[in-house]
Amino acid sequence: MLAEGVSSAIGAASPQPLSFVQFPMAFSELLPTHPDVVVARIESAPFGENTYVLSRRDRSECLIVDPGFEPEAVINWIEEHRLDPVAILLTHGHSDHIAGNAALRERWPKVPILIGRDDASKLTDPAGNLSGAFGMALRSPPADRLLVDGEAIAMAGFAITVITIPGHSCGHVVFRTDDTRPALVFGGDVLFLEGIGRTDFPDGDFATLAAGIRGGLYTLPDDTVVFPGHGDTTTVGHERRHNPFVADLLGRGDAADANR
Ligand SMILES: [Zn+2]
Repeated sequence: MLAEGVSSAIGAASPQPLSFVQFPMAFSELLPTHPDVVVARIESAPFGENTYVLSRRDRSECLIVDPGFEPEAVINWIEEHRLDPVAILLTHGHSDHIAGNAALRERWPKVPILIGRDDASKLTDPAGNLSGAFGMALRSPPADRLLVDGEAIAMAGFAITVITIPGHSCGHVVFRTDDTRPALVFGGDVLFLEGIGRTDFPDGDFATLAAGIRGGLYTLPDDTVVFPGHGDTTTVGHERRHNPFVADLLGRGDAADANR
């Protein structure tokens, strides 16, 4: 896909030359999930970063996950569907996941920004959020709520648990719904479709990331849907069996395959 090389710049495991990539425009799509739940994905150029808008079909409130470099597309989606944002949830503080915060807050000034405690400083630090390396000096409004591992979020009709998984970014969190079947995970740059987040940034570490994926994601039911920060949707079961970077050390993937 066109965005793959660009997503590698900040998100994915294997960097590709930026100059060979044509940037797609933002687009929105509905993803098949629980019939009561609507998940819209808005992919932003230039890094192929996924913003998600999560809502209950019978409610107007919505949650925005990781607003990227094309916030107008996010605003358009929300306005077209007459939704009311109640929070911006950030998986981590890299620039491609926070670039839309300022525009969204301009449009909806009361919407709080939530981020993992150890990534909060990246919001206002261009070196920390990696925008300085691209010559942008991007600064987001600061966080309104700092999240810790195991914390519960009850918003927009969802019960969500925060799971801390460092290794791509020291304060990276993922958001897991507790009241949908299957569970949904908004995973940022931890686990991609047959990929993982880069671990070569100053606060990155492969062993930490792999341990977090095994302990925090591979332990979830196979049908858990993972909405990653770059690329296509996947499931926990698919990654336990097929992820080439982080194998399921308990061998459950092999055993399950043998039964098919
Ligand atoms: Zn990142």
